[in-house]
Amino acid sequence: MEPSAPPRTYRVKSFGCQMNVYDGERMAELLGERGITPAPEGEEADLVILNTCHIREKAAEKVYSDIGRLVLAGKQAEAQGGRQPLIAVAGCVAQAEGEEIMKRAPAVSIVVGPQAYHRLPEMLDKAAKGERATDTDMPANAKFDALPARRKRGPTAFLTVQEGCDKFCTYCVVPYTRGAEISRPFRDLIAEAERLVEAGAKEIMLLGQNVNAWAGEDTKGRRTGLAGLIHTLARIDGLERIRYTTSHPGDMDTDQGRALIAAHGEVDKLMPYLHLPVQSGSDRVLKAMNRQHTADSYLKIIAKFRAARPDIALAGDFIVGFPGETEAEFEETLRVVDEVRYAACFSFKYSPRPGTPAAIMDGQIAPEVMAERLQRLQTRLAEQQYAFNQASVGKTCTVLVERTGRDPGQWLGKSPWLQSVWFAKDEGAPAAIGDMVEVLLAVAGPVSLKGLVCETLPA
Ligand code: SAM
Ligand code: SF4
Repeated sequence: MEPSAPPRTYRVKSFGCQMNVYDGERMAELLGERGITPAPEGEEADLVILNTCHIREKAAEKVYSDIGRLVLAGKQAEAQGGRQPLIAVAGCVAQAEGEEIMKRAPAVSIVVGPQAYHRLPEMLDKAAKGERATDTDMPANAKFDALPARRKRGPTAFLTVQEGCDKFCTYCVVPYTRGAEISRPFRDLIAEAERLVEAGAKEIMLLGQNVNAWAGEDTKGRRTGLAGLIHTLARIDGLERIRYTTSHPGDMDTDQGRALIAAHGEVDKLMPYLHLPVQSGSDRVLKAMNRQHTADSYLKIIAKFRAARPDIALAGDFIVGFPGETEAEFEETLRVVDEVRYAACFSFKYSPRPGTPAAIMDGQIAPEVMAERLQRLQTRLAEQQYAFNQASVGKTCTVLVERTGRDPGQWLGKSPWLQSVWFAKDEGAPAAIGDMVEVLLAVAGPVSLKGLVCETLPA
């Protein structure tokens, strides 16, 4: 590769989960420290970071088509006297397929795994000298220690508290791409949350692949779990809302899990929303998935959350067409859906991932069977979401204003149950991004609600 002038502008394109969004923000902050600024809207960036997702085949394929597009755009820019962008591939595809990317895509200068991106500045120095750089090490917590203080501004913020996974569900790449489970230290998290609130955050979403497995020691040296962390965060003045995602049912049936369930009845700032994936309603499939719970144990956990917080909104993840899944087993999944009555869900066709045990299991399901099952499941889930929204009509709740709606005359925000709520800007008391607005939920749509403003709460 030719040596090139250091980049002045960057663009980070994050795919996949919220943890990738968090990582993307942290990479942006690192680049900011070096005086590299976001490329203005509509302009090519000198450095493009593709922050990739490896969870399903389709997500992983995107990286190569994106690299192709960038090379083409770079050639056009060069023809007009501009420059080829420096391309960096980050995230889980970088971790899983780093070598292959370097072989297949000579235009890529940097490959950096999700646990190594704190070393991005050194890698940029190498790239400026015309050398290609790869770093897919997984040093536990080193990344967080090396990152600069958070700069993120805005009313909602992600905060990664736990990373990696030791569960080894047989279909999943996360334990291989994100490494072993680690919890960030309690003090660091409180400090980061305080900085986010100082910078304007009203709501913090605690993130982890298995966020409810978070464990640490509080400031008095006592062992504590996510509930303890939430109780402490709730004491931060100015922080109005706390959420967490994603939880694993296997970590709910423990003392820490029970404390978390109880926290939903004790901490006003903890929002009435739970994302608890079940994946399948069939115990045979769950065993083959190595999920460490049954349909019944999952439903019992849901019942406990509902007892602690009767209005809690429930969300989940589903995989249809896991190897060997029969029609009867799929119908067991529909039965769980009917029993839970979800507010919002994510559902996927099973995607065989190289290196995972399920990818070589007998009984791989035909794509058309998977597509048909997914359609039936998604129809049922969409009906439930709409029903949940309809049942909210007539309630008054606080909406945290996040941005202007699709129509510039509207504000858009989230209800406590994580529903999107929009209301007219010229209606009632004036509102601004970051305001907590008291709203009457007036009209339900399938994926959002129209609200009528009651009053703007004092900041
Ligand atoms: N740790 C969380 C849990 O176990 O519930 C989920 C983390 S994973 C990043 C997000 C979701 O992707 C999973 O809940 C699952 O539904 C889906 N997923 C993971 N591997 C998949 C695969 N091979 N095919 C289809 N969906 C998959
Ligand atoms: Fe993947 Fe299972 Fe870990 Fe979730 S619990 S990240 S699905 S291995």
